[in-house]
Amino acid sequence: MANSVSIYRGRLAPSPTGLLHLGHARTFWTAHTRAQAAGGTLLLRNDDLDRSRCRPEFVTAMREDMAWLGLTWAEPMLSQSARVPLYREALARLHAAGLIYPCDRSRRDVLAAASAPHDGDEEDEPFYPAEFRPAPGVPLPALSDPISTNWRFRVPDEQELIFNDGHFGKQRAMAGRNFSDFLVWRKDDLPSYQLACVVDDAAMGITEVVRGADLMRSTFRQWLLYRALSFSAPAFYHCPLVTDETGRRLAKRHDALSVRTLRKQGCTPEEVRAS
Ligand code: GLU
Repeated sequence: MANSVSIYRGRLAPSPTGLLHLGHARTFWTAHTRAQAAGGTLLLRNDDLDRSRCRPEFVTAMREDMAWLGLTWAEPMLSQSARVPLYREALARLHAAGLIYPCDRSRRDVLAAASAPHDGDEEDEPFYPAEFRPAPGVPLPALSDPISTNWRFRVPDEQELIFNDGHFGKQRAMAGRNFSDFLVWRKDDLPSYQLACVVDDAAMGITEVVRGADLMRSTFRQWLLYRALSFSAPAFYHCPLVTDETGRRLAKRHDALSVRTLRKQGCTPEEVRAS
C-alpha cells in the first residue's frame, strides 16, 4: 500500500499584490524542481487575504507569468479569501487553549517602544515588547463576531527553537528575543499571514515549504502554531534572496525586474529561471 506520508507535496503561494519578479521566478522554479525530483505534486495557493493590496488582475498576471516560466500545478488553485471560516476555527482553538490575547496597541506604539529591537526589516512585523502583554492570569475576553481587535499569540519566552533548513542547514531562534508575540488575527476581521499559512499548509498536506529567506523568522512563528494546533510541521527550504544592483532585496515595486518586463524584453523562460 502506498504510504501517503512519503508523497511530496509542495506549493507555490504568491500574494497578488503586484507583478512577480525575478526572486519569485527563482524560488518557484526551485519549488518546481524539488517537487519533480521527489516525484511529487506542486499546488498553487493564492494568498489574497489583504483586501487593500490584492487585486484580481495580479492573480491573472501571476498565473500567466508562472505558466510562461514553465510552472505547472496540480489541482485547482485555492484562494485564501474563500477559506476564512477554516482560519477562524483554528483561532477558536488557540483561544480555548489560552494561547492568544487581544491587543489594542497600534503598530506605531509598538515601533515607538524603547525596548523593541529594530533590525530594519520593514516587511517583517515589528518586535512586540513584553511590557505590552496583559498580566498573566487576566481572564481572556470571548472572541467577538466580527472581530474588531488584533489578537496575538503569546510566545514561550526563552524557548529555543531549532529546525534543519533544506538549503541553509540548522537554524535557531529564541522566542521572546529574536521574535516576539505575533499577530494571529487582525482588527479588520481577517487572519494574519502566519495563521492562514499554517492552517492551509496543514490542510493541503504540504510536506515541504519552499520560499524566500525573508520568511525565515516567520518559520519560527509558524512552527509554534503547528505545535499549538497539533499539526505536524512540514520540512522547510528557504531560497537565498535576489537583490538589486544596490543590494536591496527585490520587491514588487521593482518593475524593471518583473517577469513581465523581462518577458517583453525578449528574455526566455530559461534565462529568467536561471538568472
Ligand atoms: N504569500 C507569501 C508571499 O508572497 C508567501 C507565503 C509563503 O510562501 O509562505 O510573501
